[in-house]
Amino acid sequence: MGGNATLGFAHGALGLATLKISRMSTRRFLIAGNWKMNIPPIGSFAPESPYRPHPSVDVWVFPTFLDLPGGRNHTLIVGAQCGRPEKEGAFTGDVSMQMLADQHYYAVLCGHSERRRYHGETDEDVARQAKAALDAGLHPIVCVGETLEEREQGKEKDVVKRQIADLPSGIIIAYEPVWAIGTGKTAQPTDAQSMHAFIRGLLPEGDRATTRILYGGSMNAANAEALLSQPDVDGGLIGGASLKPEEFRKIVETAARLIRLRD
Ligand code: PEP
Repeated sequence: MGGNATLGFAHGALGLATLKISRMSTRRFLIAGNWKMNIPPIGSFAPESPYRPHPSVDVWVFPTFLDLPGGRNHTLIVGAQCGRPEKEGAFTGDVSMQMLADQHYYAVLCGHSERRRYHGETDEDVARQAKAALDAGLHPIVCVGETLEEREQGKEKDVVKRQIADLPSGIIIAYEPVWAIGTGKTAQPTDAQSMHAFIRGLLPEGDRATTRILYGGSMNAANAEALLSQPDVDGGLIGGASLKPEEFRKIVETAARLIRLRD
């Protein structure tokens, strides 16, 4: 994987500061809000919004396609919740990775468990999406994670290994145990660390130090510190708590405090 350790983005004056800080740490924390099929929380685009770029933590949000332009026009770093690998064609209802890049969007989620579940996306589809996203110049966050049944059968590592097997270099990975998404159940920080270290160990050697691996699954202001303190947890992909601006702000602030401790 040709991982990029410096994913700070040029958004005016802040972009420059972000870039400098990025280079100081191997893997900068990324706190990403997945708003799913919800309207943006009140105040999202206001000057003091917690969803704005932060000087020492990458903050990205994933609104619906309808709200992407609003986020971008208010200088939030926004990405799409999915994208199609083909550049154009007879794919009713879809938007391609290339179209997202042409509109200057920044990132895209690939293989979220809800896309795998409700849209039948397979590991092969997800790998194609990730490759197409990179080719278009987007930053893909690829979601992997086992179901409760798979964990109870002790298969969680086999499942995750299969899910990442054909992924390209240069992506961000989000480990999201399906049983923890939207359920209020969170992986124990040590279990998350164990899976993150396992995933990192499966990456090509040249990508291990630079690839960011986020945790997702009921992360909130109360458990963020314990999760983000784990050495192989490089941020969070956050659903429910990202719809509550003050909760989200606390998570970003926690990451900012921890990165200072790490530096
Ligand atoms: C998600 O949907 O990616 C997610 C992690 O959701 P939640 O934080 O609500 O569990």
